[in-house]
Amino acid sequence: MGAVNAPQPSVVILGGGPGGYEAALVAAQLGASVTVVDRDGLGGAAVLTDCVPSKALISTADFRSQFETASDLGLHLEDHEGDEVSDSVAELLAVNRRVMALAAAQSRDIGERLASDGVEVLRGTGRLLSPSRVEATLEDGSTRALDADVVLVATGATPRVMDTARPDGERILTWQQIYELPELPEHLVVVGSGVTGAELAQAYLGLGARVTLVSSRDRVLPGEDADAATVIEDVFRKRGMEVLGRSRMESVRRTDDGVVVRLVDGRQVEGSHALLAVGSVPQTSGLGLEEVGVALSESGHVVTDRVSRTSVRGVYAAGDCTGVLPLASVAAMQGRIAMAHALGDAVAPLNLRGVSANIFTDPEIATVGYSQKDVDDDTVDATCVMLPLATNPRAKMQGITDGFVKLFARRGVGTVVGGVVVAPKASELIYPVTIAVQHGLTVDQLAGTFTVYPSLSGSIAEAARQLHPRG
Ligand SMILES: Cc1cc2nc3c(=O)[nH]c(=O)nc-3n(C[C@H](O)[C@H](O)[C@H](O)COP(=O)(O)OP(=O)(O)OC[C@H]3O[C@@H](n4cnc5c(N)ncnc54)[C@H](O)[C@@H]3O)c2cc1C
Repeated sequence: MGAVNAPQPSVVILGGGPGGYEAALVAAQLGASVTVVDRDGLGGAAVLTDCVPSKALISTADFRSQFETASDLGLHLEDHEGDEVSDSVAELLAVNRRVMALAAAQSRDIGERLASDGVEVLRGTGRLLSPSRVEATLEDGSTRALDADVVLVATGATPRVMDTARPDGERILTWQQIYELPELPEHLVVVGSGVTGAELAQAYLGLGARVTLVSSRDRVLPGEDADAATVIEDVFRKRGMEVLGRSRMESVRRTDDGVVVRLVDGRQVEGSHALLAVGSVPQTSGLGLEEVGVALSESGHVVTDRVSRTSVRGVYAAGDCTGVLPLASVAAMQGRIAMAHALGDAVAPLNLRGVSANIFTDPEIATVGYSQKDVDDDTVDATCVMLPLATNPRAKMQGITDGFVKLFARRGVGTVVGGVVVAPKASELIYPVTIAVQHGLTVDQLAGTFTVYPSLSGSIAEAARQLHPRG
């Protein structure tokens, strides 16, 4: 019997960030005709303003910081006349140029990949006219209507702006505006000590700026592993950052030659520039979502289930606009899952327990699975071992003094259910723990796997060994 030719399903995707473009690649692979409507550039905020630029900036700052520890390892730098050079200087214009060129190149690569996979890309703004019809307003002002069997909304989020602290792009900045700075701020006041605030505060400190971090909470990185956050806050202070805990910003305003950050308790912090890192809001208004019946949460996020379905049949959503977990890796996974589900491929629902995440401070903090808080409040019945890296031979050789490895194992059976690594390049070291969590490996299996001697991963195996379940 001959195969019946099924009509090619059509997919329209709003947003070309990781949620959108990764979904487009999967949909094209599954045989759909795919159009991506994107407003600001392929790769989205992840590639153009948020994730990629910040990590590129941090790489430069980390590199410079290594000069500072060189003397601990017995090295010093000399100029060509043999005089000791004690410091390196960051030329911010050159640093920013490199960062932006790198982001643009990444965006171009994504465009080329989409084109080679047959995905149509329209530069413009999209909105839903119905669950199966999208209108794209293109850059030249013309409009195009697109019929779709499946729509994916992946429009991301944007920095939260407060009326009392309005960014001006010159001295009061969001994290998306910092790459326009022509020179290093003399004194940067970073407002907000979540992941973005902490990462960028340390990046500018590493580049040589004076930095004050205004944190509304008891310690930086609220919501992260408390032991890890304590290590990071200590490192911040040791390296000369001023950290103001329990200090809630009320307003930020310009002065003649700088900024004043006013705190709720009346104190004032003066600086040359302020960086606002006070959260994000989803870009879900004006998309026609409510008009076609797509349910939004109170915060304006699109409500989705674990296969990325919204409340309207045929309309899916992925990434930061859903508020599930603001990570590029999660956005991409949600997008891929949406397409697999919509186009009838095998699909495993999103499993957040398997997500590894990293904070790119120095040292980095990488986490996966259940957290210390989950253990403490009995969400999971687990035991824990935490090993400081200071006793690890490789750490000693590399001059690493701050950091640790922490593993959580289910009591009695010894299955690895979570972990935290605080170390340089923790983002790489967390992978074996993620494999263990994702695939239900036991501490004995982890401990019985060879590690290189000497290596930091030796501490992961040692922590696993110490968690061996006792009869
Ligand atoms: C400073 C910072 C650093 C970060 N670092 C990391 C990191 O190291 N690792 C990590 O995993 N995550 C990181 N993140 C998070 C990550 O950037 C986001 O989770 C990711 O960008 C979400 O992808 P997305 O596809 O949902 O949206 P986005 O990347 O925001 O893309 C959305 C796209 O939709 C487009 N769009 C919006 N509205 C419309 C419309 N109406 N029509 C057409 N197009 C539209 C936008 O132009 C944009 O191109 C970081 C975030 C910040 C703020």
